[in-house]
Amino acid sequence: MIEVECDVVVLGLGPGGEHAAIKLGRAGLEVVGVEDRLVGGECPYYGCVPSKMMIAAAHLVADVHRVKDFGGTATVQPDWGPVARRIRDEATDDWDDTAAVKRLVENGATFARGRGVLDGPGRVRVGDTTYVARKGVVLNTGTAPAAPPIDGLQGTPYWTNRDAVALTELPKSLIVLGGGPIGCEFAQVFARFGVRVTVVEVADRLVATEEPEASEVLTKAFEAEGIDVRAGVNVASVVHDDDQFTLDLGSDKVSAEKLLVAAGRKANLDFIGLDTVGLGDDLKVVETDERMRAGDKLWAVGDITGKGAFTHVSMYQSAIALRDILGEKGAPARYHAVPHTTFTDPEVGGVGMTEQQARDAGLSVRTGSTALEKSSRGFTHGPGGHGLIKVVEDTDRGVLVGGTAVGPAGGEILGFLAVAVHAEVPVDTLRTMIYAYPTFHRAIESALADLS
Ligand SMILES: Cc1cc2nc3c(=O)[nH]c(=O)nc-3n(C[C@H](O)[C@H](O)[C@H](O)COP(=O)(O)OP(=O)(O)OC[C@H]3O[C@@H](n4cnc5c(N)ncnc54)[C@H](O)[C@@H]3O)c2cc1C
Repeated sequence: MIEVECDVVVLGLGPGGEHAAIKLGRAGLEVVGVEDRLVGGECPYYGCVPSKMMIAAAHLVADVHRVKDFGGTATVQPDWGPVARRIRDEATDDWDDTAAVKRLVENGATFARGRGVLDGPGRVRVGDTTYVARKGVVLNTGTAPAAPPIDGLQGTPYWTNRDAVALTELPKSLIVLGGGPIGCEFAQVFARFGVRVTVVEVADRLVATEEPEASEVLTKAFEAEGIDVRAGVNVASVVHDDDQFTLDLGSDKVSAEKLLVAAGRKANLDFIGLDTVGLGDDLKVVETDERMRAGDKLWAVGDITGKGAFTHVSMYQSAIALRDILGEKGAPARYHAVPHTTFTDPEVGGVGMTEQQARDAGLSVRTGSTALEKSSRGFTHGPGGHGLIKVVEDTDRGVLVGGTAVGPAGGEILGFLAVAVHAEVPVDTLRTMIYAYPTFHRAIESALADLS
């Protein structure tokens, strides 16, 4: 066993870990980045980036179908070829991280390919080398697709997001198991490319962590596009035979050529030596303080912290951990205004608490909402201009604690609501603003006027 000293080891190079390793390298620290798959993690190779390329293409196809209602005729023959090529060539370099490794090294980090295991405070073992970090370890091991314990599922050739983004040909029919953000994004993409799609969701609605009104708008949009939405069902079993998947839903069965499981993620925390640093070895999340410290000589960032499985959370936490490592001052981590967007059409953007979460937290709550299609911009937009704005106010403090924006640019309208919730801008101040006519965000003024 070889021992190598350094300042910091970054174990797992997802978005936050990669960012930390690069910044620490640039700051002149001796940093070792450890990654056993692809530098950059799930987001650039299997998540955000390829899925958003798929979505951009699918939305264009849908817009062509809509043109007949606007001003003429156009036809489109959806072709997956350009989408698959773009993902392979522009997003993932054919799932090759050579460029990312080069960037890491050019910024002063040492790269170690392999599975890292914690071996006591500040120590990480990779193969026959133990890296001994003077300052400590940044843990960023992320998540992997999880499969629910459904009778018959294991052993079938079901897909996860990692298969879905690498497709070169599409099936005729697809069941998407899971109606959360990832499942919904994929479902709509494939449906818009002509695949017969059924979404099966155990919760009683799609995107169940969002406001119920948002789920309703999205479900209507899906059904209008011919997506079969089965929410509130229990899947008794999965059978795969004759090149077909069949899901037994109790009172009904659904079948399709392929099955995509998008039913949650599992933190990569098994067998990584958490017990050697004084943490339980069966953790689902790693608890951190407001400086991202998780223990002696240990920081944790990203999905494993359970504060929102989003790239922007990983990057946010990484910046905080960096400041702590470098001894710099800065704001501590706060999660009262975590924004998130499901990039369906309409997009579903949310920030802070839903109405139910605010009530469960014991706040005195008022809500206001408005349908986007009733706004001037939604009306003039025409087909596809539907959605909603909903705001949640803590009346004791007179500030918004949550907001939802569903619409063609829901994730962009969200920016306004995110500032309001993050900075705790008084509702009275928001009401004195001038909202440009006729923007989508002007509907926020109507939602605020509806607070009751
Ligand atoms: C289909 C899909 C779409 C998504 N879309 C969005 C989106 O639009 N916006 C958004 O904000 N988020 C999105 N996400 C979520 C986003 O991808 C993650 O939140 C993001 O990647 C941050 O993850 P992370 O930093 O925890 O690390 P991850 O990206 O999970 O990376 C962790 C890395 O650690 C490595 N690793 C694990 N264990 C070890 C070990 N023992 N030794 C060495 N290396 C190890 C893994 O190989 C991996 O590369 C999406 C996810 C999916 C699946």
